[in-house]
Amino acid sequence: MSSDSNLIIIGSGPAGYTAALYASRANLNPMLIEGAQPGGQLMITTDVENYPGFPEGILGPELMQRFRDQAVRFGTEIVTGWVTDVDFEGGPPFTVTTAQGEHRAGAVIISTGASARLLGLPHEEPSADGPGFMGHGLSACATCDGFFFREKEVLVVGGGDSAMEEATFLTRFCSKVTIVHRREELRASKIMQDRAMANEKIDFMWNTTIAAYLGTPGERLTGVRLEDTVTGELREQETGGVFIGIGHVPNTQIFEGKLAMDDKGYLVTQPGQAATAIKGVFACGDVQDSYYRQAVTAAGSGCMAAIEAERWLESQEG
Ligand code: NAP
Repeated sequence: MSSDSNLIIIGSGPAGYTAALYASRANLNPMLIEGAQPGGQLMITTDVENYPGFPEGILGPELMQRFRDQAVRFGTEIVTGWVTDVDFEGGPPFTVTTAQGEHRAGAVIISTGASARLLGLPHEEPSADGPGFMGHGLSACATCDGFFFREKEVLVVGGGDSAMEEATFLTRFCSKVTIVHRREELRASKIMQDRAMANEKIDFMWNTTIAAYLGTPGERLTGVRLEDTVTGELREQETGGVFIGIGHVPNTQIFEGKLAMDDKGYLVTQPGQAATAIKGVFACGDVQDSYYRQAVTAAGSGCMAAIEAERWLESQEG
């Protein structure tokens, strides 16, 4: 199968859906390729209380469904698929390949977001080697899963703002939260550190990493093997659960060698714009933002990308 469109949007979080909304209202009939996790990271979140316009809060999946419905209402074509390759050379037209076939377009907006970074240990996630612990005592999202760890003693890995936030949030449910950090100094902002340190349910375990998960993958994580990063000493500890809070990685693998990236792999856009160095290719949302990473900033940058794409397509006419 192959198709031609004015505009292809790759990815479907707040950035992608907002770009689709603006582009469809500009009569561009965009095609949005949803990706592996339609709706993005908000689909694994519960209450969203900082999205303006919802004073009583809204569930992440419901917010994303509303974004999607609004884009579809104005003519966005949504395609369920996983982009395996892109060809931006010599375009437009640019080519975007999915398992279903090739799609060509005069402009492309990339909004593939970012995913939680994991430790990379065996049996973390399901793989060819068998089931994983993720969802069975191991989580990368306290907001999503904290509720399942009521009255348990859990570990949170990381020393940045994410880890402090996850740990503080988990104290609503858990009897004790221990932050496991590989150094003896936190990376987190002062205010987040102070909040975590003042919380009597939170303890710190310094100079320590997790060397292995213990238990039965696919069934239950029961403990961890801890490694002292200074002495190399190993010891085992039982735990009610482990939360990984070590940051995010941008979903940019398919753009390697094709678009400029910063040292963390985030796409680079022109200052204050969504335009990449390739004319007609734009990026918005978390895939190009390691700093703000908010639904509302992602949505705002999606709007910018659509307006820039619209002007680019106009400039190509005639
Ligand atoms: P981050 O600042 O990059 O911190 C990641 C932490 O995880 C670091 O302490 C790092 O240790 C540790 N780490 C990384 N890889 C590890 C590994 N393989 N094993 C063990 N530990 C590992 O990421 P973040 O906390 O997600 O924050 C990212 C950005 O979002 C920051 O700008 C932050 O301010 C912002 N943010 C803000 C809020 C908020 O204000 N509410 C909440 C979350 C995030 P080292 O320190 O040793 O490198």
